Amino acid sequence: MPDSLISAPSSEFLDKLTAIVGEKGIVSDPQARAFHETDWRGFVLGRAAAVVKPGSVEEVSAVVALCDQHGVKIVPQGGLTGLMGAGVPVRDGDEIVLSLARMNRIIEVNPTAYTMTVEAGVVLQTIQETAATHDRYFPISLGAQGSCMIGGNLSTNAGGATVLHYGNTRSMVLGLEVVLPDGRVWDGLRSLKKDNTGYDLKDLFVGAEGTLGVITKAVLKIFPKPKDVATAWLAVPDPKAALELLSGARIAADDNVTSCELMHQLGLDGIYKHIPGTQPPLQDRHTWQILMEWSSTRPIPPDGASGMQPRMEAYLADCMEKGLVQDAVIAQNEAQAGAFWKIREAHAEAGRHDDPACSFDISVAVEKIPSFIEACNAACEKAVPGLRPRPMGHMGDGNLHYTFSAPAGIKDRAGFAPMVKVLDRIVHDMVSEADGSISAEHGIGSVKLLELEHYRSQTELDVMRAIKKALDPKGIMNPGKVIRVDPDEPVRDGSTIR
Ligand SMILES: Cc1cc2nc3c(=O)[nH]c(=O)nc-3n(C[C@H](O)[C@H](O)[C@H](O)COP(=O)(O)OP(=O)(O)OC[C@H]3O[C@@H](n4cnc5c(N)ncnc54)[C@H](O)[C@@H]3O)c2cc1C
Repeated sequence: MPDSLISAPSSEFLDKLTAIVGEKGIVSDPQARAFHETDWRGFVLGRAAAVVKPGSVEEVSAVVALCDQHGVKIVPQGGLTGLMGAGVPVRDGDEIVLSLARMNRIIEVNPTAYTMTVEAGVVLQTIQETAATHDRYFPISLGAQGSCMIGGNLSTNAGGATVLHYGNTRSMVLGLEVVLPDGRVWDGLRSLKKDNTGYDLKDLFVGAEGTLGVITKAVLKIFPKPKDVATAWLAVPDPKAALELLSGARIAADDNVTSCELMHQLGLDGIYKHIPGTQPPLQDRHTWQILMEWSSTRPIPPDGASGMQPRMEAYLADCMEKGLVQDAVIAQNEAQAGAFWKIREAHAEAGRHDDPACSFDISVAVEKIPSFIEACNAACEKAVPGLRPRPMGHMGDGNLHYTFSAPAGIKDRAGFAPMVKVLDRIVHDMVSEADGSISAEHGIGSVKLLELEHYRSQTELDVMRAIKKALDPKGIMNPGKVIRVDPDEPVRDGSTIR
């Protein structure tokens, strides 16, 4: 970022900041600060002028108002597991990080109304566990659930493994409390299912990646806890068979298919190599494998016969006869189901230890997945000989984490970067032609900002810029992420940090 754009906050500002949050709300240890400046993949994109951890909405409001007065920019931060470089500073020294980590209270659980009210810094897994202690269920589930926070899940509109049945994080929200970019608090903390009083403001902040305000609290929906769950690991001949399998499963399970995850043998190889405690559920190697889960909130019937597992067994036997399934194992207990899920959720972590690779988080209509994979693999392998595609992802949602390992011989990310640039255009052009999305669930952040500008229509960009300008006229909320108001503002080339 050119120095001309950067002006570090004054010492007067920093003194006032400390006065608002107190010593325990300022992170000064250099190692602890470095954590807040480094994204999950280990990239440091910029440096923060300060890292603050307010303890209440009043403190968040005062910090944001102070930043508004001094023109200091703010990067809201949750668990720092986002994959688009959105939760870290991208400039050097004129942004503060505002971490919600200290605002981690569960305010209320209402099992009768099926709601939970939480502060933004509550870790996702804590929300799941709290719901379970009330015989309830919070369905958002993803590999980072032990460290990501609900404010981050809301701000990225995270998806994960259960969207097929329950929807994404946006569908979990009844109300929000948000600190606006001038420091005012918008109290939209309602638990109404029906509320047609004008524009739906909460929907603006969900998925905004911290560019429109700071989410401080949320009223979430919770659900009856599943009591009868069947989990299977399958081999299928190709994605077309996987699609047919899924389509029939929805009827066979009374529309209780809660997850359908597609995996590729090359991706699984990396997991078994790098992640301790994982081993292949099936004896033979199969290019395409599926993790499928059916779950019902009805208790397992006493005779067992009409439960999820026997029905799944019958359905898979039928699919095997038709050649849609080549091999299958159904988990016999929770521990075995947990082992299957551990493998599925380890893809991102294994990717950190593997050869250079790049990954595209894309979606197309579910029925286009087989033809899309075939065409995209062919086009990318032609452009980059030796490339090793291993698409996987939330197949039930049409969402692929389309991953490519670099050709053998390319040893580092820098060597792969020029090829990633070529792949960016090929993959995203093909997604666009298929009426798909260049970001299914990870967001835009700084990594895909230029891609968003390239693929969204002028009308859509105009509306987004108008919203950003109306809510954040000084441009202090998470600059360099999602959308540029000034098209001349320099940005990072995402292909170098993907
Ligand atoms: C192993 C792994 C698996 C993953 N699996 C999935 C998956 O299956 N599905 C999926 O959708 N994503 C997945 N992700 C990415 C996902 O987006 C994040 O894990 C999660 O939703 C981000 O939450 P966080 O608290 O870590 O947010 P951060 O990374 O801290 O921030 C993400 C964005 O939200 C903003 N933000 C954070 N808190 C607030 C707030 N309170 N108010 C306003 N803005 C805020 C930040 O500024 C940033 O723009 C995965 C990530 C990892 C590392």
